[in-house]
Amino acid sequence: MLTLRAHHLLCIQGYLGKGYSKAFVKNMDKVVDSLKDTTLIKVISKVDDICIACPHALENDCCESEDKVSFFDTSVLETLKIKVNNMYPYGILLDIIRKNLTLKSFKEICVTCTWFSYGYCERGCFYAGHSSQT
Ligand code: SF4
Repeated sequence: MLTLRAHHLLCIQGYLGKGYSKAFVKNMDKVVDSLKDTTLIKVISKVDDICIACPHALENDCCESEDKVSFFDTSVLETLKIKVNNMYPYGILLDIIRKNLTLKSFKEICVTCTWFSYGYCERGCFYAGHSSQT
């Protein structure tokens, strides 16, 4: 079982091995490589299994940019119609992303993210998404 902040469901789709530090990338590689359709994900809106190795994570279970990332989480929860603290198999979450995320809603959610302008996430979510192993 993994914990993932809601907005990290989108970040994962465009992940290309880049991140905030070596330790962050090493941990994110491990998380992304572990994802299979059957992997249970607990969707949360606080520091998760990706944040734990991030230099921007604070000790109080929050991010340095908590206001911004909380907005991302809330928007993703609403757009995907999923609930915080619920558990979903990763394969089901991929289906939900394909069904509920539009290019318009993606841009509305993510435009203020520092990674948005690189285009990785848009490509991953709509044109070449990370696919889990079965
Ligand atoms: S920037 Fe914030 S939300 Fe993103 S991985 Fe780091 S601690 Fe988590």
